[in-house]
This record gives sequence, C-alpha cells and structure tokens, in this order.
Amino acid sequence: MLFGRKKKNPIKIADKGIVAWKYATCGYCSTGCSIEVGLNAEGTPVSSRGVADADVNRGKLCLKGIFEHELFTSAGRGMQPLLRERWHEPWQPATWDASLDKLHDEIRRIQTEHGPDAFAIISTGQMLTEEFYTLGKLTRGLIGTNNYDGNTTLCMSSAVSGYKRSFGSDGPPGCYEDFEHTDCLIAWGSNLPEQHPIIYWRMKEAQEQRNFTLIVVDPRVTMLAQNAHMHLAITPGTDVVLMNAMMHVIFKEGLEDKRYIAANTNGVEALMAEVAKYDPVTAAKICGIDEDTIRVVARTFARPRAAGPLQGARSSPSGGSERSEQGGSHSPAAMQIWTMGINQSTHGSDGVVGINNLALITGNVGKPGGTSLSITGQCNAMGTREWSSCSGLPNYRVLENPQHREEVAAFWNVDPAFFPKKRGMLQTDIYQAMEAGQIKGMWLIATNPLSSLPNTARIRKAMEKLEFCCVQDCYQDSESAQYAHVYLPAGTWAEKDGVMTNTERRVNRITPITPPPGEAQPDLWIFNRVAERFNRGAKVNFPEKAGDIFLEMGRLSVGRLADISGMNHELIEQHRGIQWPYSAEQAAFDQSRGEAPPKGGKRLYTVDGSFSYADGKAKLIPLPFIDNNEVPDEKFPIWLNTGRLIEHWHGRTKTGKIGNNNKFSPIPFIEISPDLAAELGIQRGEYVRMVSRRGDAVAMATPTQRVPKNMVFLPFHFHDCANRLTLGLLDPHSRQPAYKQSAIRIERIEDQTAAAKLSMEMRKF
Ligand code: SF4
Repeated sequence: MLFGRKKKNPIKIADKGIVAWKYATCGYCSTGCSIEVGLNAEGTPVSSRGVADADVNRGKLCLKGIFEHELFTSAGRGMQPLLRERWHEPWQPATWDASLDKLHDEIRRIQTEHGPDAFAIISTGQMLTEEFYTLGKLTRGLIGTNNYDGNTTLCMSSAVSGYKRSFGSDGPPGCYEDFEHTDCLIAWGSNLPEQHPIIYWRMKEAQEQRNFTLIVVDPRVTMLAQNAHMHLAITPGTDVVLMNAMMHVIFKEGLEDKRYIAANTNGVEALMAEVAKYDPVTAAKICGIDEDTIRVVARTFARPRAAGPLQGARSSPSGGSERSEQGGSHSPAAMQIWTMGINQSTHGSDGVVGINNLALITGNVGKPGGTSLSITGQCNAMGTREWSSCSGLPNYRVLENPQHREEVAAFWNVDPAFFPKKRGMLQTDIYQAMEAGQIKGMWLIATNPLSSLPNTARIRKAMEKLEFCCVQDCYQDSESAQYAHVYLPAGTWAEKDGVMTNTERRVNRITPITPPPGEAQPDLWIFNRVAERFNRGAKVNFPEKAGDIFLEMGRLSVGRLADISGMNHELIEQHRGIQWPYSAEQAAFDQSRGEAPPKGGKRLYTVDGSFSYADGKAKLIPLPFIDNNEVPDEKFPIWLNTGRLIEHWHGRTKTGKIGNNNKFSPIPFIEISPDLAAELGIQRGEYVRMVSRRGDAVAMATPTQRVPKNMVFLPFHFHDCANRLTLGLLDPHSRQPAYKQSAIRIERIEDQTAAAKLSMEMRKF
C-alpha cells in the first residue's frame, strides 16, 4: 500500500566528506575483490566501496569488505617494538634497533648452539607477495634454516600437494569465468555463500543465465546445499570413496574421454584396476551416499549435457590457447570446486587427486567450464605458494632439483651449497619438534597458532618450551604474543604497497592508503632491516621499493609456469588485476595489437601435453582408502564439524574488532539437531559443554535441521573454543590437519549463568 510510504522519510546516506578514493584489493578471503577506500579531507579512511570495472567483483563487496576501512583504527594495534627477558614478565618499550638486534642475535645464538634448523620461521597468507619473496630470500639465502613454513599449511597444503601429484606443479588451472561456460558444477566441501560470497555471486549469476546442474557434497545442509539440484550428505572423511565409486561407474559405462586420456595422462590402467573395487553398492556403505545417487552423479558429471562427444578444438594463440568459446556454443563441460571440506582431512591430498582424476578422465581440464579449481583460503595464500620459498624456492622451484638451486643462487648471489637439498618441516611438524625440544626458537609473522592450530593445550606446552620467540604482527594482543620475548609492530593490508594473487591466479594491487600507526612499520621494511643484520657485506640485493621487487620477481619468473614478466604495478592497477601467466612476450604482442585488458592466462593446461611433468602428461593416481580418522564411539558419540561464518575472518583477530561484523555474530554457538537437543534436554539458547579427548569448550545451542542427529557444527572463529576440542590428525602428503573430523560428547549445563560468563571469555581477543 502506498498509504504508509508517503509518511516515511527517505533514507539519507551520511555525507562522510570524502575527497579521494584509493585503490586496493580486499585483504580477507582469496576471492580478490577490487576495493576503493574513501578518505576525508584529514586523510582519514571513512568508507569502502567495490570497484565497478573490476572483473572479479564488478562493484560488489561482501559484509567484510564493506567495513574494511575500519581495520586501520581497530583496537589492539601495536604502536612500538617491545622487549622482555622472559615471556611471563611485563613488556618494556624498546627501539627498533634494539629489537632487531635481539632477533638477529637470538637466531644466531640458537643456530650456533643447536644447529641451523633449531630456529623456525612461520609466516602467513596475509602479507603482500613482495614481502613473501623478500622473507624467502632472507630465510633461504642468509639465515639458512630449513624449518620455514607458512600458516597456509592449515588451509591449502592439501590442494598444493594434490595439484603437484596430479599435474606436476601447483597452480589452480581454472577461473571464475568457467561458471559462465560449465554445464555441471560439483562443489566438494565448499560453502561459497558464506566463505567466498562474491565468488558465489559470480556462480549464481551464471547459473541463473544457464541453469547448469549444481551438485553439493557436504555433510551439512549448507547455504550452498540449499541452492543445489542435488545435495549429497556424505559421511565425514569419505570423499575419496565417493570419487572412486564415481570413476567406477564412468569407466564401467564407457563415459570416459578416451582421446583426452591417451593424449594427456599416464596411469589409467592402474587407476581402473583400483576403482574396479569401488562398486556403488560397496561404496554406499562407507560414504553414506546411496548407490543410485552415485550413478546419477557420475553420469551427470561425465555427460553434463546430451550434446555428443567432447570436441577437442585446441588452438594456440600467443601466450596460451583456449578451447573455443566463441558464439555462445561450446563443448559440454563439467567443473569441480572445493575448499576446506576436502583439504582439512587425513585424506585431503588424496581428495584433491581424486577430484583431478575425475577431471582428467572426463577431459575437464583447461577448457571453458571444465576445470578442477581449488577455492583458496586467505587473501594471498596464492602469493605465498608462488613466491615465499616456504616449500622450496621462488616460482614453484624445488630444493630437490639441483638446477633450481643453481638458478636461484646465481640470481640472488648466494652459494648454492647454502640451500638445503630437500624441504624441511611443515608448520604442523614444527610444533611437534618444539614439543620434543628439537626447535628452540621461533619467529612468528602475522599468524596466531594459539588460536588456529588444533589441540590448543598441546600448542601451549610447545610454545612454553621455546628459549626465544619473536612475534611480528599488526596486533599486539594476539594470543601467541603471550609467549614472545620480542614484539615487532607491523603494518597491515593497505598500509603497505604491493600485490596479492587470488584464487584464479589474478595478481592485483594494494596501494598504501594510510601509514601504519605509531612506530609500526610495513613488513617489507622489517625484513629489509633484519636482512641488513645478516647481509653485512651487502652481498645480496634487497630492494626497498615493492615495485622494484616485483620487477625482480618478474625476471626470475621468465619461462616458468607462473610467468609474470609482462606485468608491473601500474599495469596491474590499471586493469584491476592480471592473471598469470602473462609473459613479457605476451605483453609486447598485446601492445602491438592495442589489446585491453591484457590477455593474462585465463586457464592452465589448455593444449595437449602441457602439464608440468617432464613428458607433459598428468598422472592418474590410484587412491586406496583406509579410514584412519577419529570417528564417533560410545564415549564420544557426536561428529564435531567446524567451519566459517560470513561475518568473520579466521581467528577474528580483525573482524572481532570491527563493529558491525562482531555485532552480527558475537558469540560461539553450535548447530545441533532438534532431535539430539531434545534427547539431551537442551533448550534453544542454552549453553552446552562439548567434551573431546583433548579438552572441553562451551557454546550456545542453536537447534537446526542443517546437521544430522550425530553431528554438531561449530564455527571455528572464537577464542579458546573449537581448537580446544579438535584432534587434527595430519594428512600424510600435505601435513594439513583434519579439523573437520573429531569426536565429542555434549553435556547439558545446569548453571547457565556461569556458562554465559565462560562464553563471554571466549569472545575476548
Ligand atoms: Fe573481501 Fe572476500 Fe568479501 Fe570479496 S568476498 S569483499 S575478497 S572478503
């Protein structure tokens, strides 16, 4: 009725007095949205908006992005370096020189007394790529510890490992545009609407245009599952069994792409022999998906539309070829995406290989709409994979290859013999080595293991054993700083200059919007000052400017899979990001034709025989399944499933301090089935105690049909909560923890007032 409306006041948008907008890429998830921050006349950031001509987000931002300007002034920021002799003593303010000298001296003391690898360095997926590259040069080229890793081991190492095993190299082969070409999408353990909202928007827009089949495999009825044509509520940890059974059906019914397999893969006979054991009837008993559904999904994926056999029209223009996508007609294509539901498992790497196997046997790699695309976690998890040297040497070079060691040593002007000949420990193994007394010192950079690693009680004990710990973080109040002897205040996100790479290999720019507060400094400045202390003869070059470092990286990338030699900071910002590979040769070609935007590499492996193994072929790898997870039993009868909420980012270090994000989702809660809640006498809104073999935690009960009766879902963001319970068994290939498969029991709490008080504690930072 128009009646009432007449009386309503129109919505007024507050005039924030914005005089300038500055460009950046969002610093939360890996979607990589282009964002502009509005500054008022005093230069204060007061607003955020999406960039309309950016291909990734086309003007949109999610709940986190639209409040990102509040990050600069959030509580708890570190303003000056701090020192103390013992970790439980009060902090003393210190100068940068004294703090950096202390870090240098302790690294060398521990290495002299206990060996070079007794000092560990753990970084993050949050910094900018030039910072990762500089830290890698410092660590591999000057400090010389082999126990160097990033917190990306907690989210992406299974994807990295699986890509390497299947394709011979890391690097997601697809892009968001694939949603616009696909005929079938299987999402494995990925809840896009909450985890990657703008990728979801891209997917949904494409689906509304073409109504392709959407199949979601997830133990929980997620928001994405609610939108799916088919939801497969799989038994936790058994995805590999479902994948094997799907391949069983595909081979048995002759639905595989024989031409593609012959031209592009090795190992099909061994794979067929293994999956022959996984008939749908047997598989259904393990993975909980009925045999008919397995057959329907396998057939739908292998033949996503009744349009005849796949056509292998592969052309090769300069800089990478694409199968035909002209004129709106294309060959039938099916794609798969996945996130932590696959990666965070004892079978994480195998799950990724299984997804790749399915893609390879159906010819769904490197063509529009046909891909296996890992949806990455942190904003620059890709940047650290490409350039940090954590897993080896820059740009996917490996320590195990003598030629790679020689190339990088010559480029950096260091002795190749200084490099280890194989990779050291990953992050999850480093904490076990601390517990065992093998690692004595640690430099933690923009990561908070006391919040993010499984089995918090054990991590605390390991941290207490350190002789020395340095925490470098933009927040002084991170839980892990409790154990530090040196605190270095760092800049965050767009207080710095550089680039990040998103899920679809798009390198995008962050310009410095405002300086770090107080005496805090950009991470790059800190690494360069540390490097000066190890690089006395100035033998190794450490450029000061991010733009110069990027050009150096470009020179080191020539001819590699992730070739960025055709990019520079200005071109990247101008085009709102460019996908790699983008070589200097391609850039010159584009320039000669007046191409805009530059033709970055939309897809990898677009021509036959272009995989990264020596013979150009991918590997089909058999995946025998042994169930080695913790599973519910009589004493701990409930599955604990953990995951994310749209309002928060990881340990809430940032979003817990940003008004609206935290207001929307302020307390830890569990999703619990109404049947289980009734059986335990638990009312909606009551606090419950969760108990595992590791510890206990308290959360508010929210009965919902989203979870089955033998499972609860607990968001992992809250302080001292989910990881008090998780076991985190490690994947044998990737060393990534199985966060999503633990067994607990639920207890009703009589004293609700005390429980509410405890819950308040978990909200703190
Ligand atoms: Fe930032 Fe991700 Fe949200 Fe985009 S979808 S605004 S990258 S958090």
